[in-house]
Amino acid sequence: MQTFATATDAALAMRPDVSVYCFRPEVLREDARRFMQAFPGQTAYAVKTNGERMVLETLAAAGVTAFDVASPGEFEAVRAVAPKAEMLYMHPVKAQSDIRLALETYGIRVLALDHEDEVAKILRVVRALDIDPSTITIFVRLQTKGAAAYELSKKFGAAPAHAVELLQRCDRIGFKVGLCFHVGSQIEDPETYRRAIASSDWVRSRAGVPLAGLDVGGGFPAEYGHDPRRKKPEMPGIGEIMSRLRSDLDEWGFSDLPLVAEPGRVVVARAFSLIVRVLLRKGRRLYINDGIWSSLSDSWTGKITLPARFIPDPARKSRNGDPNTVSAFRVCGATCDSVDILSRPFWLPETVDTGDWIEIGHIGAYSLALRSRFNGFYPDTFVEVTTPFDESGADSYASLETMADWKG
Ligand SMILES: *Cc1c(COP(=O)(O)O)cnc(C)c1O
Repeated sequence: MQTFATATDAALAMRPDVSVYCFRPEVLREDARRFMQAFPGQTAYAVKTNGERMVLETLAAAGVTAFDVASPGEFEAVRAVAPKAEMLYMHPVKAQSDIRLALETYGIRVLALDHEDEVAKILRVVRALDIDPSTITIFVRLQTKGAAAYELSKKFGAAPAHAVELLQRCDRIGFKVGLCFHVGSQIEDPETYRRAIASSDWVRSRAGVPLAGLDVGGGFPAEYGHDPRRKKPEMPGIGEIMSRLRSDLDEWGFSDLPLVAEPGRVVVARAFSLIVRVLLRKGRRLYINDGIWSSLSDSWTGKITLPARFIPDPARKSRNGDPNTVSAFRVCGATCDSVDILSRPFWLPETVDTGDWIEIGHIGAYSLALRSRFNGFYPDTFVEVTTPFDESGADSYASLETMADWKG
């Protein structure tokens, strides 16, 4: 992989027509370590967020020893880079053959579920393989309510009374049992974890079985951009969320239990930026060479404003507009699909034009992991970049600090 100091250097050297992922291994190591230091338990990186080999390798080298996995593809990806790492199979709904593969081939001993039929599936495999149930930990996934950019509790999780029954059933079989929840992604309200912990306490006291652990899932927010004409929204930082989480765990008496977290976004978001090219400017619209079917579907679903840095093409001799005025540009994706238009604009200087590049920051989570081959577009070019996105120079129109300072 080629290495550059900044994405601007990479764009000007490569003059790419395809979008280019800029990987920052040092930032990834830093963010992983910061999370592990702040969280008072085991950190299991959620592989679905970004399962690239370079990411898993860097995390393993940074000391991440556990991974939250959901499929045979993820078992294999983790095994390939970290043969000794522990895998937690936290998908609540699993194929029987995948459960067998997990237990038999990958030695996985931690699984999640939210229904009794799932208990039966696991038990069938455990009996067939003659595994001692007490070597297996079953986390019962609890339904939660909250405010996340991506609400997941509608899909998975047992209601509290049902969770009580599941805990008791698994305990009777001889499994070790724990409670887990996943409050959704990009949590904006720190009360969300508190409510889930309170609900866990209710379930624990009703179930009356010894708990082997509490898994608080993922959902920890990453920093993105915002509309510079408005006041910067009051988003709790990861530090605040973590200190509240710790005091809530204390207050509800969970601090003495083994704790697990499954962060994805907060660990990997800052580790990548993306260089895209403006294929055409049409008024206030920019047609770019990436989009919701490539690297940008998460920002579309979550209505996230992405931090965008202008990289003007020096080959363009004449420009219109005031370079010091920043405007909103509607962003149209590369495919012919009419829904391939971002839900939030890019904020860029008025001089942006056909042929220029844009560096999109903090795009490491749910970006390349979700890219498709739709319409024949499949970005797959990587470079390494050594300077963090936020520190890449004064020429940046939409670095996060600059955005926060804009008066609009
Ligand atoms: C997706 C997922 C995560 C990671 O969520 P982030 O919001 O990226 O931290 C963790 N746990 C489970 C069960 C998930 O499905």
